[in-house]
Amino acid sequence: MLAKKAFYFKPANTTGMSLPLALGSKPASETYDVIIIGSGPAGLTAAIYTGRARLKTLVVAGSSWGGQLMLTSQVENYPGFPEGILGPDLMNNMLKQAQRFGAEMIFEDAEDVDFSKKPFKVVAGGVAYESRAVIIATGASPRQLGLEGEERLKGKGVSNCAVCDGAFFKDKTVVVVGGGDSAMEEALFLTRFARKVKVIHRRSQLRATKILQERAFGNPKIEFVWNSVVEEILGKERVEGVRIKRVDTGEVSEIQCDGVFISIGYKPNTDLFKGQVEMDEKGYIVAKDFTETSVEGVFVAGEAKDHRYRQAITAAGEGCQAALDAIKYVEEIKHRPK
Ligand code: NAP
Repeated sequence: MLAKKAFYFKPANTTGMSLPLALGSKPASETYDVIIIGSGPAGLTAAIYTGRARLKTLVVAGSSWGGQLMLTSQVENYPGFPEGILGPDLMNNMLKQAQRFGAEMIFEDAEDVDFSKKPFKVVAGGVAYESRAVIIATGASPRQLGLEGEERLKGKGVSNCAVCDGAFFKDKTVVVVGGGDSAMEEALFLTRFARKVKVIHRRSQLRATKILQERAFGNPKIEFVWNSVVEEILGKERVEGVRIKRVDTGEVSEIQCDGVFISIGYKPNTDLFKGQVEMDEKGYIVAKDFTETSVEGVFVAGEAKDHRYRQAITAAGEGCQAALDAIKYVEEIKHRPK
């Protein structure tokens, strides 16, 4: 049971001042065995396993739960669905499966964490929750080009999600930036609506897997602009075009378009854990012995640690691994002599 305080304190920061963990947060009345932060394939698979092992489980699912698959259309490479399955349907199934085994869900973002002492604390929705173990499964978010127009014209023609915004571009011209699987999927999806889809890629070869390359090359609506980077997104109120530069010749030109879909990879959602667990220079959480972080009892799964495989199935597999490690850890500490 937590002490009845208005908020909790972190260890001193660099200025030597104590910081409130989350001002105004109130304590939850019970200690969980495990808190899972994140509700993509990694988090929900972990919840299925810990729930089924009868661990008292809380999933801090986030205000937009479900992760990247909620923004995808057909998932064709998740085993068990020979005809494919819609991303949101797959995530809804995982959510129901986790709830069936007793995992509690809160649809709030985690606002703060304190892993400096046990039990661990996770603040979400103004409430401080305690747990014996934590599984970090916060995934990753789309990377941005870092151009001024990108933020200003977001929702006015700039997007990271064809499934969400593609239908607004019926019979229009759109560009997709990137040469990986995501960019090809975005481009192919956009051909349902757009008159023309121009893929702007900084090299002369795609990074995407062969099957997606073949589909993209075979689609008459898709055109490729090779060896080029976007220097500026043009337009005052709405996207009107992009200014591009060839990386080989330095030649600058403009492409008129109504939409810009940026699809250049992802960055891990780990800002919340800075100073709490060890990370690499790109912000990926460092895992040792599969899912253990630098803090005993805090585990990590999925794209918060994985910059190599980044698949729904590998995230789900790591969620399972983290859950099995957390289950073992919780059982051990429950039987440790006091
Ligand atoms: P990715 O494979 O990292 O590709 C990112 C693309 O963006 C690359 O072509 C890269 O160019 C380009 N890029 C990066 N930074 C850029 C910048 N600043 N300006 C211009 N271009 C830039 O990312 P992803 O396509 O999002 O895929 C991530 C992972 O998810 C991959 O492992 C992929 O296989 C997986 N995925 C799988 C599926 C599927 O199986 N159906 C679908 C989506 C994603 P370079 O090529 O020059 O580096």
